[in-house]
Amino acid sequence: VRRLALALVHYPVLDREGELVTTAITNLDVHDMARTARTYGASDFFVVHPVAAQRLLAQRIKDHWTLGSGKRRIPDRAIALELVRVVESLDEAFAALGGRTGPDAIEVWTTAASVRGGAITTYADARGCLADSREGPPVLLLFGTGWGLSPELVANADVRLEPIVGRRATAYNHLSVRAACAITFDRLLG
Ligand code: SAM
Repeated sequence: VRRLALALVHYPVLDREGELVTTAITNLDVHDMARTARTYGASDFFVVHPVAAQRLLAQRIKDHWTLGSGKRRIPDRAIALELVRVVESLDEAFAALGGRTGPDAIEVWTTAASVRGGAITTYADARGCLADSREGPPVLLLFGTGWGLSPELVANADVRLEPIVGRRATAYNHLSVRAACAITFDRLLG
């Protein structure tokens, strides 16, 4: 089966004014997205942060639940959090999966609440690309924080997934990254 990993990106993301910023680690995002990743069979959950102190925090969250007393107390949380890989940059995540260039270059897929950066791919088509019978290079699925992934990341992606919207005309689709992650995985691999 085709390898699918995900990354929670804290840089480069946008702020409210559309500027590139670095956001802070959110404990709940790490927990909840790790559980989603484990449930649907993702291979790795990269937590991307350029600031060393923030990486240390993410690593402490992981270690608390995957080593020692935390693991003994709640083993099913350990199984999920073992997927977490704390990295400094997206390039480090690309390299860990085999690199972004060459014949086996990984594919980068992005998620966003609005259509931007080029042609979009429906969930049905993306699901087909991940069907058990299909071979292919590893996929790294990106989720943003703040006001979303940088325009450059979205424009340079191999696949831009369609925004998740409700069936009713609510004119609102600003999901938390944790909720968007769970819905995305269910649509792709549920
Ligand atoms: N502070 C927010 C939170 O509570 O998580 C962060 C918002 S952040 C922009 C949300 C990320 O979740 C986006 O970058 C995207 O990856 C994903 N997301 C949110 N709403 C979405 C939607 N309707 N469709 C697809 N992805 C969505």
